Amino acid sequence: MPSIVLIPENTGEISKILKWCNDHGIPVTPAGARTGLSGGALPIYGGVLLSTEKLSKIVKIDEQNHQVTTEPGVITQVLQDAVKEKGLFYPPDPASRGSCFIGGNIAENSGGPKAVKYGVTNEYVLNLEVVLPNGEIIWTGANVIKNATGYNLTQLIVGSEGTLGIVTKIVLKLLTHPTQDMLMLVPFLKAEQACEAVAAIFRAGILPSGLEFMERDALLLAQKFTKDYSIEIQENHAAHLLIEVDGFDSEQLMSECEKILNVLEGFQTDEILFADSEAQKNTLWNLRRKVGEAVKAYSTYKEEDTVVPRFYLPELLTTIKTIGTKYGFNSVCYGHAGDGNLHVNILKGDLMTRNGMRSFRWLSENYSRK
Ligand SMILES: Cc1cc2nc3c(=O)[nH]c(=O)nc-3n(C[C@H](O)[C@H](O)[C@H](O)COP(=O)(O)OP(=O)(O)OC[C@H]3O[C@@H](n4cnc5c(N)ncnc54)[C@H](O)[C@@H]3O)c2cc1C
Repeated sequence: MPSIVLIPENTGEISKILKWCNDHGIPVTPAGARTGLSGGALPIYGGVLLSTEKLSKIVKIDEQNHQVTTEPGVITQVLQDAVKEKGLFYPPDPASRGSCFIGGNIAENSGGPKAVKYGVTNEYVLNLEVVLPNGEIIWTGANVIKNATGYNLTQLIVGSEGTLGIVTKIVLKLLTHPTQDMLMLVPFLKAEQACEAVAAIFRAGILPSGLEFMERDALLLAQKFTKDYSIEIQENHAAHLLIEVDGFDSEQLMSECEKILNVLEGFQTDEILFADSEAQKNTLWNLRRKVGEAVKAYSTYKEEDTVVPRFYLPELLTTIKTIGTKYGFNSVCYGHAGDGNLHVNILKGDLMTRNGMRSFRWLSENYSRK
């Protein structure tokens, strides 16, 4: 627990707080929406927890220059929706985007499903207003795309988890919002093959705007958590890939989907579901976005966030399962497969902690019996 929580309203107040705390040797931990998974907003040194929740204004959407200037306490999805209304696109979309702040995303350099095509937060940050620990207020860069002058302070701050200063204003680069997208859910009979298909899709010259892997248990848990059973999961579905392509020309997207289908012919898949309405797209993305929370609601867990060059995904998955078998634990894997990123959730489940009392059950068996 901190000694005190301060909730300033503007940069000037933050500057005064930091100067005073610096002069008196009092630790300060900045906090956004406190959804971060690496514990950066925990005030482990006590002192002040400085909330940025009142710095929640979108200052300016500059349509002419495809830029937005915002305060850090704006919820990421609120920012995305606001620029979308102007036909503009801010792609980084962590699964927590409905609750996390854009300032927290800067401090964590967040990614999300769109990162496979559009990259992570740092690729969109042009300039930051930062209050340094001594209270000094600086701008780190310039509101231009090309800026090679001096040290790259902007990128030093991105991902620094609040250790170098407090971000009080953010200038982001925006794109034109794609007008079309197509989404398919592909059931695989073997989970390793789903992982193999990921690299094969890229080798065929396709750059999907989303390429997510969910093994069977991940999707089953998400269905249970959301109480949405509209997607049929057959007994022999070992894993799914959720594949999205986006752009501005539907014929081109159709042709990309055809290329993906050609690639998938080389793998053992079941009937592919094409989302045929916005509602169905939302259902599929919602299931994917809720997997993390669903797994956590099911069992005490230990999450590992793993990443490999995408060609090695099958090996990563197989190795995780081999280790699980050896040590008697069950794991649920899902993640941004296009980035080679798998979230591995090791479930405590029924595992006993005392020696000789270990037992575990596989979720799938458990669910199929029901
Ligand atoms: C369900 C769930 C799904 C997620 N999915 C993804 C995902 O797909 N991809 C991904 O990359 N991440 C994901 N995350 C983690 C994500 O990175 C964080 O949710 C988010 O970036 C943190 O934002 P926040 O506002 O909650 O920041 P907090 O957790 O409050 O803070 C995070 C860090 O930023 C610092 N900080 C906050 N604001 C400022 C500021 N203004 N200036 C300086 N430092 C500051 C804090 O000190 C702390 O170190 C997920 C998290 C959850 C809970």
